[in-house]
Amino acid sequence: MTRARLLSGGVWAWLTAPADETLADAARDGELLVARVRTWLTLLILLIPVFSLTFEAAQPQHWIGLGVAAMAAGAALVLDQAVRRGLYRPGLSAVTSLADVTIVSLGLFAFWLIGLPIVTTNSRVVFEAYFLAIAASALRYSPRICSFAGTAAILQYLTLTVLTWRFHEEGALARGAATYGALDWPTQFGRLVMLVAATVLATAIVSRAVRLRRLSTSDRVTGLFNRAYIEEYLGHELVRAAREHQPFAIAMLDVDGFKKFNDTHGHAAGDAALRTLGTTVRSGLRRSDVVARYGGEEILIAMPATTLASAMEKLDELRVRIGLTDIPLPRGGTARVTASIGVAALGLDGATLDQLLDAADARLYAAKAAGRNRTFGPGDLEVSDLPGS
Ligand code: GH3
Ligand code: MG
Ligand code: MG
Repeated sequence: MTRARLLSGGVWAWLTAPADETLADAARDGELLVARVRTWLTLLILLIPVFSLTFEAAQPQHWIGLGVAAMAAGAALVLDQAVRRGLYRPGLSAVTSLADVTIVSLGLFAFWLIGLPIVTTNSRVVFEAYFLAIAASALRYSPRICSFAGTAAILQYLTLTVLTWRFHEEGALARGAATYGALDWPTQFGRLVMLVAATVLATAIVSRAVRLRRLSTSDRVTGLFNRAYIEEYLGHELVRAAREHQPFAIAMLDVDGFKKFNDTHGHAAGDAALRTLGTTVRSGLRRSDVVARYGGEEILIAMPATTLASAMEKLDELRVRIGLTDIPLPRGGTARVTASIGVAALGLDGATLDQLLDAADARLYAAKAAGRNRTFGPGDLEVSDLPGS
């Protein structure tokens, strides 16, 4: 692969990486909302050249306006349908945000093409559409996409201004001046400053929203998700998995004898143990698995698209790894803990979160009763009882 391709691939990955995985649904809803607003807006804008052609003497700019507006409305309708039919991909937001800004620039450039360059730089309505495009980019909940769209608007508008200034003779700039005034640099500079300000503000608002979302979904001690988030996540993911006939496993993990651990090493060491546990569990599972601190020393694990047998195998490996992990203690030295795990599967144990939690909890207590440091599945099945183990 050439360096240029590697670089563009890297930039694309950087731009389209979700700011926060818990905002993926909000970003999809935002894309849908923008698609709808874009469709209505372009259809309304289409009325302007239609009115002009109906009630005024037809001029070339009216036909160009009609063509550009009809193309924009057509593209908006196609995109709206695509997003509605579930064709949304995270990379789409970067493309549509850039497209929204670019369509405004193309609208301004159309005036340049028909020999009215003064409208390109001095237009009062079309220029304002940049602010709509920047505001809409904020609904994708990614500060990167937001600053990308804003920067594109600034650069495109600057290019259009320089183009008008450089390539149009005095006569062309004078045409339309009665309505739009002359090309003056302080005004153009002011417009660019407004675009910069809108971009900075929109990016700051999105960054703050991402930070607040992260705070509201994570646990301070372990850095894992919190109970509220995993319940929200399981609420819709279990329904989706059942509808699509996908396997789905959940597991409740509880540290063994943690009260004694606290009594022996102190509360700060207990917190350190929970932090280490969080890291061990997170790193021992797939990226698509969701891990949350459910209670004091209880961790709830959601494993989408995972069969009961493979979940139990993976979780038992994790249990072994937890038992072998050294926990650095605040007062020096290290200690270890073990954990017991209860596993439940969608379908076999029910379809609702409550049913699955009840089954996983019952198995966790069976694992405790059987001596702790075990992984239990349906029928108090241990991983060693699975066929092929
Ligand atoms: P078992 O093997 O039956 O699970 O025994 P256990 O001692 O782990 O169970 P129990 O539920 O009796 O005790 C849980 C203890 O976990 C109580 C509390 O001291 C400790 N704990 C809960 N949350 C925290 C926390 O945030 N930090 C610390 N350091 N300890 C916690
Ligand atoms: Mg415990
Ligand atoms: Mg407990």
